[in-house]
Amino acid sequence: MNRELHEKFIAAAGKGGMKISSGLSPVPEKFLLSEDPAVWKEDEEAVQTSLAARIAKIDYDSSLPPQEEPLRQYYFMERASRLVSAREEKIGRKLTFCVTTFGCQMNARDSEKLRGILEKIGYVEQETEDADFVIYNTCTVRENANNKVYGRLGYLHGFKKINPEMMIALCGCMMQEDVVVDKIRKSYRFVDLIFGTHNIYKFAELAYEALQSDQMIIDIWKDADRIVENLPVERKYPFKSGVNIMFGCNNFCTYCIVPYVRGRERSRRPVEIIREIERLVNDGVIEIMLLGQNVNSYGAGLEDHMSFAQLLREIEKIEGLARIRFMTSHPKDLSDELIDVIAASDKICHHVHLPLQSGSSRLLARMNRKYTKESYLALADRIRERIPHVSITTDIIVGFPGETEEDFEDTMDVVRHVGYDAAFTFIYSPRSGTPAAKWAKEDQTPVSVVKDRFHRLLAQTQEDARSRAAAYTGSIQTVLVEEVNHQDAALVTGRMSNNSTVHFPGDASLIGKLVSVRLSDCRGFYYIGEQTSV
Ligand code: SF4
Repeated sequence: MNRELHEKFIAAAGKGGMKISSGLSPVPEKFLLSEDPAVWKEDEEAVQTSLAARIAKIDYDSSLPPQEEPLRQYYFMERASRLVSAREEKIGRKLTFCVTTFGCQMNARDSEKLRGILEKIGYVEQETEDADFVIYNTCTVRENANNKVYGRLGYLHGFKKINPEMMIALCGCMMQEDVVVDKIRKSYRFVDLIFGTHNIYKFAELAYEALQSDQMIIDIWKDADRIVENLPVERKYPFKSGVNIMFGCNNFCTYCIVPYVRGRERSRRPVEIIREIERLVNDGVIEIMLLGQNVNSYGAGLEDHMSFAQLLREIEKIEGLARIRFMTSHPKDLSDELIDVIAASDKICHHVHLPLQSGSSRLLARMNRKYTKESYLALADRIRERIPHVSITTDIIVGFPGETEEDFEDTMDVVRHVGYDAAFTFIYSPRSGTPAAKWAKEDQTPVSVVKDRFHRLLAQTQEDARSRAAAYTGSIQTVLVEEVNHQDAALVTGRMSNNSTVHFPGDASLIGKLVSVRLSDCRGFYYIGEQTSV
């Protein structure tokens, strides 16, 4: 679909009354943003003014906190900040915090929320873990990630012995496992606070409790039925941000622990997502990453269903937003409508992360992935045909229980056919608590065979990635500059729309800017370039 045609669809959808015959389904009228950005701003201002007015009315001296969220959390932020001020006065210095994140982009985003609350309470961020409040936001996707956390807790204990003011908090997916919490309760008694993935919004309240208690506070919920909006967030980058659009997962892939620790799928209301992005853009953000375990099934549980493609069309209207990314896609739910919306967009990055996991239909059924080799190939073909210069990246597991040479050859077949721009390849490692972990006990392919397959796969994916990257050499690309290069301070580092990394001569004044860069040299998986304009 060409740009002009696409704009007609957007305009038609915006008026809400016209039937669209392109294959793009109309956005439900109650979710539509006005065509006039001034109207959204007014709307947003009204919401923020009313929230600010309600926060201003909180009686912080009362011993009864408000019941309504997020007001309740603002009450505890203020109460906690009084405790922090008193401690600072006593010891004669500012109190500091450090949040360490393990795992995925969702955890990174959750950590930004924790930082926002700690700053509001009065702590000052520092990079090292000898701080006064240290949080480990944990991941449990791989079994050895748990051992890493136990190891690092011993190291934190050393700091706590020197600094009696120190608070240690643990949260994230690992804390949703009973056996983990039991172990920490028994063997790591110096930990002050443990909470899970479903009640992270209650962190201010829990921190307040922990600051006053000499007991370990543990608050883990098995699931959540609510999403609390409008809490403070402290972003890592001023110019880009993650935005959660949904939480949890309903898919139960047989190797994955996520649905057990993150709960069932819950989508945020479109209006809340759009307001958050509006606020971010007003605050200088030009790139957003929409986050969900399976963004393609966005909206399924909403009162009035709205698809992910429809949500993207609304987000695109936000003035000042330059780039939209999303992750992760599930091949079973990626619609033709979404492909068309990406293809026609100047803002949605032409990059689709399409986890394959295996190319064998037999293994895919065993993994409960709900697509086949054939349907995946057909989908990848449609994406390549319809989205110009699209980059397709993937995740692949080698050595899933019962994998035969024939199954592995099916994977290689898909890899050769699709020609991925990048592939994250993993050797299967059993995750206890999942069905596949039980099969691994009886049906595990010998390690030497798995390693050999892994090396063959890696060689193929690296060769494909190199040759796809080389094709861009000499072209001019728009790069969002993210940082001064860590190895060479005369260079800056940024990303193209397809997520490839580019280094080129420049300084810190370019950070957060979109710059035109000629890709003069392809070095395998990244480029060296030269700036042509800002
Ligand atoms: S889609 Fe599958 S792999 Fe992804 S989070 Fe859900 S269960 Fe895990």
